[in-house]
Amino acid sequence: MQRRRPCNEDAASHSDAKQRLVMALRNRVIDEYAPVRTRRGYRYVDAERLTSLSSELVRQILEELAESGELSRRLVRSLASCPSCGSTELQLVIACNRCGSQRVKKGIIYQCLSCHNYLLKEDILGEGGLRCPKCGADKPHYVVMGKFYACLNCNSIPVEPTWRAICESCGSVFNQDETDTLELYSYSLDGRDRGEAIAEWALMTAADEISRLGYSLRINEELRGLSGVMHRFSGVVRDSSNDAVKLVLDIVSSDSGLDEQHALSFILKVKDVKAENSLLVVNSRMSAEARRIVESQKINLLVMKNLSTLPDRLKLLIGSILSKTSLRQRGLNYSARIP
Ligand SMILES: [Zn+2]
Ligand SMILES: [Zn+2]
Ligand SMILES: [Zn+2]
Repeated sequence: MQRRRPCNEDAASHSDAKQRLVMALRNRVIDEYAPVRTRRGYRYVDAERLTSLSSELVRQILEELAESGELSRRLVRSLASCPSCGSTELQLVIACNRCGSQRVKKGIIYQCLSCHNYLLKEDILGEGGLRCPKCGADKPHYVVMGKFYACLNCNSIPVEPTWRAICESCGSVFNQDETDTLELYSYSLDGRDRGEAIAEWALMTAADEISRLGYSLRINEELRGLSGVMHRFSGVVRDSSNDAVKLVLDIVSSDSGLDEQHALSFILKVKDVKAENSLLVVNSRMSAEARRIVESQKINLLVMKNLSTLPDRLKLLIGSILSKTSLRQRGLNYSARIP
């Protein structure tokens, strides 16, 4: 009988969706995931199309990618939202600042010269033209004061109008102070080093596979050297059984590539942490001197060519370096094929 494993399947589609979203940005299929207003509220339609997942799940995944630093997020705008149900479908109404009533209207306001009361146009028409409805003066003189708001509930004229929002989905009425906000973000690779994002993505993708070999790969980890100085590496591979450091690696993806100085500082870090194995991943640019230094120090080297195959090549190379080490320790002579 086949047993369903919905949790694992969900987790797989979740990480698959993450990869797809990052890849589309990296390959410049999409510049950013921006919120789009639709009839069902704000949605990340590009991301939904790419992953075939629900709006809620896509929103959650984009947030997770921003939290882990794989994507950077930028606030587009804050929307006023209902404090009761969170809806952003709101209607603004004008209310009286004295009694709170919504029976407020804007119109031409007149003043009776006898009693100095303010009146609306409808007050002075018909009967009101013959007698002031406020003081009863006969044939009153009215002067135009201007266009103001008047409250028909408490008869205050003029009133300072205040805004109230009515939630169109739950009917709550609330003022500006009570309003919640919904922050809308766009997500992209911009705002941070693109190369760094690619390196992290490649390592994270390779990490799962490496864990199956009995090792753990931690990204962006600091190790204390014998000198007491902390050194940061793009990745540190440890033996899962005893936590011993087996390999340290740096991914150099800056446009300037790997120069002599960079190679030397990597060697110093490796020696200071007494790493058993080391690996430098570089893009194609590399000075001849840097290459000579790296090779003379028995540092493994991986030159990035095709980014989409980088995680696989990383996994294979790390696997082969580690299996060589463990065989060597058992006194066997074994030469692994390095991709
Ligand atoms: Zn009057
Ligand atoms: Zn009022
Ligand atoms: Zn509501």
